[in-house]
Amino acid sequence: MARVYNFSAGPSMLPLSVLKKAQAELLEYGTTGQSVMEMSHRSKEYQQIIETAEADLREIMNIPDDYDVFFTQGGGFTQFAAVPLNLMNKNNKADYVVTGQWAKKAFEEAGKYGDAKAAASSADKNFSYIPKTKRSDFRTDADYVYICMNNTIYGTKFNELPDTGDIPLVADISSCMLSEPLDVTKFGLLFGGAQKNVAPAGVVMVIAKKDMLGNAMDITPTMLNYKIQADAKSLFNTPPCYNIYVAGLVFKWIKEIGGINAVYENNKRKAKLLYDFLDSSKMFKGTVEKADRSLMNVPFVTDSEELNKKFIAESAANGLVNLKGHRTVGGMRASIYNAMPYEGVKALVEFMDRFEKENS
Ligand SMILES: *Cc1c(COP(=O)(O)O)cnc(C)c1O
Repeated sequence: MARVYNFSAGPSMLPLSVLKKAQAELLEYGTTGQSVMEMSHRSKEYQQIIETAEADLREIMNIPDDYDVFFTQGGGFTQFAAVPLNLMNKNNKADYVVTGQWAKKAFEEAGKYGDAKAAASSADKNFSYIPKTKRSDFRTDADYVYICMNNTIYGTKFNELPDTGDIPLVADISSCMLSEPLDVTKFGLLFGGAQKNVAPAGVVMVIAKKDMLGNAMDITPTMLNYKIQADAKSLFNTPPCYNIYVAGLVFKWIKEIGGINAVYENNKRKAKLLYDFLDSSKMFKGTVEKADRSLMNVPFVTDSEELNKKFIAESAANGLVNLKGHRTVGGMRASIYNAMPYEGVKALVEFMDRFEKENS
């Protein structure tokens, strides 16, 4: 078996040791005589799996007790509706910072349920930067301000949070969750889909300040009601049991390798290797403002469509797969999530260096 270095934006690589552990436990979890896939979600064994997963996530992210944490379904996209349904609950207004497609989709979805306003946008330069905002850019009676923390498609990240004063900040952290330390207390609510840094697609984690919940609109579907999900401890109905189990294995892996700070150091080292190469290359260049660069998603281009195509084909043939950029940016994109080893980025940079020499 030859595993490739998979630079996919998501679903993406999982740590090899996690896959092996899941494989070893596939047919029988502990001494239960059954797979986690076959287990009742009300069994004591599963209870322990889900409780441990939540506790480990709380520990890794340093989530205070006045925040609820729960696992839910429907991908990041379902949260684009759940957020306004649950939180546009005082003045039916919310302000969005539109920094890419995911933020735009969330903004459009919120417009179905209330008065959503784009308070700032970086659409003017194809989302290649994070717009600077001041407190006065946000309506003082907005129920929340929404950001997409890391823009998976464009490769930008909020390296500094907007100042929203007393207005709660809500963030989509799907593609940067657990990649670096995050001060949860700065947010009213965070959510993240699993398939970038945490687990197979199909589970989402929501972290919400308790006092934000309990005021959902009457039309809110029961399954999207945060208070109901939080009070049921992720077990209102059958949860995505196996995905939560894998998430739990990933949380254990993070703890084993030294916690969030160790993960962050690794990620900085990997990103620096790639960005330093891009900054010194004459053929490849990054596509976003340096100050707003993402640690996780690194888009880059050459100035020839033909070379881009050749690069994507040849890199894949060399075991470096899924490097094709998103169609709205073109060129290439390397997603270097937590599970991408340093050696994978090194192999990519060495390949880019060789490709540049051979083709110039
Ligand atoms: C991948 C992604 C989503 C969408 O997730 P789905 O699970 O496909 O709905 C939303 N937001 C961000 C930032 C993402 O990277």
